[in-house]
Amino acid sequence: MSPVNLLDFDLDGLAAYCEGLGEKRFRAVQLFRWIHQKGAADFTQMSDLAKSLRDKLAGAALIQPLAQISEQASADGTIKWLFDVGNGDAVETVFIPEDDRGTLCVSSQAGCAVGCRFCSTGHQGFSRNLSTGEIIAQLWFAEHHLRQRLKLGVGERAISNVVMMGMGEPLQNYTALVPALRTMLDDHGYGLSRRRVTVSTSGVVPMIDRLRDDCPVALAVSLHAPTDGLRDQLVPLNRKYPLAELMQSCRSYLAAAPRDFITFEYCMLDGVNDAPEQARQLIALVAGPRAAERVPCKFNLIPFNPFPASGLKRSPRDRVLAFAKVLQEAGIVTTIRKTRGDDIDAACGQLAGEVQDRTNAQKRMTRPVIRIEPSTQELP
Ligand code: SAH
Ligand code: SF4
Repeated sequence: MSPVNLLDFDLDGLAAYCEGLGEKRFRAVQLFRWIHQKGAADFTQMSDLAKSLRDKLAGAALIQPLAQISEQASADGTIKWLFDVGNGDAVETVFIPEDDRGTLCVSSQAGCAVGCRFCSTGHQGFSRNLSTGEIIAQLWFAEHHLRQRLKLGVGERAISNVVMMGMGEPLQNYTALVPALRTMLDDHGYGLSRRRVTVSTSGVVPMIDRLRDDCPVALAVSLHAPTDGLRDQLVPLNRKYPLAELMQSCRSYLAAAPRDFITFEYCMLDGVNDAPEQARQLIALVAGPRAAERVPCKFNLIPFNPFPASGLKRSPRDRVLAFAKVLQEAGIVTTIRKTRGDDIDAACGQLAGEVQDRTNAQKRMTRPVIRIEPSTQELP
């Protein structure tokens, strides 16, 4: 029997596993702390763990790191790692340091099946879901590697924020995602605040509802268009979960969310979704059908990061500013995301890893590129 990867467990899962070995819960807590708080990869290091438990674990279990293929460091301090997850698939993880925080951008899938037109991961197609262990191993590695590299003192943390904005659609890998989130939040694990763990989704409505009930963390919704006609083209998942349903689900998420707003991400595509009229349509969208109660939200405008196969262009700066102004004048807090790490292709939407496409997305994506007038909102 192949050894069990202990990174696959949240604390309850590890307690259940230890119980199966005839061990009490406090032993699981000790083990969990060794793994996640101290970064131990080897049972012999775990000095205060009963020898009898260490003996039981040896051979039966392991702490399985990801195989690192490469590391690239950007001039702005951003670091990108590429990890081999087997069978020709590789995923990327990005560390983004800022003055007051360290953010890790984590991947949830090898590739992505949603197939957004402006996303490099989407263009590559989908290979498979990552396991809980493969998701949490990205944080486990980055936190403990960076503590040494940045020479942090005892009790200092390298990573204060996690964003599920790497490769993949996290809410299409729900079963593996939730134990990974719980480990990030657990005081015996990484102890991150719910407000500092963000799930970013293209809008898998039923799973937003489940996340609200199971493990509410901060939510970012990738909107990118104010109408169903345009969003159907840019984010194909919209055909299944249209905007009205998505807005409803955002409203209901807020009842349990750790923040009192949803972040809407909006990738600015030149001549496609960046007209002032479209900003006004967004205001109407978040206002709801009777303009009764606006979805509490912030907008984060993302300058499109081009990649060759997309055929799309970044909106000019003045157009982005004009778009932001319309939203701001309606009282919606709107920020423009600073692009980080683009010199090493680590910026949003540039993460491509290496994916064995098992869905033929690349063929589907070779349709002619869209340029539309806001008034028509239909793509060829
Ligand atoms: N699948 C999830 C999370 C990963 S994508 C989602 O779609 O939300 C993370 C963010 O990067 C999303 O907001 C996505 O829309 C944005 N993005 C994708 N491609 C991009 C590109 N080429 N330029 C800028 N942002 C992009
Ligand atoms: Fe998938 Fe998100 Fe990229 Fe869309 S933007 S293809 S959902 S990773």
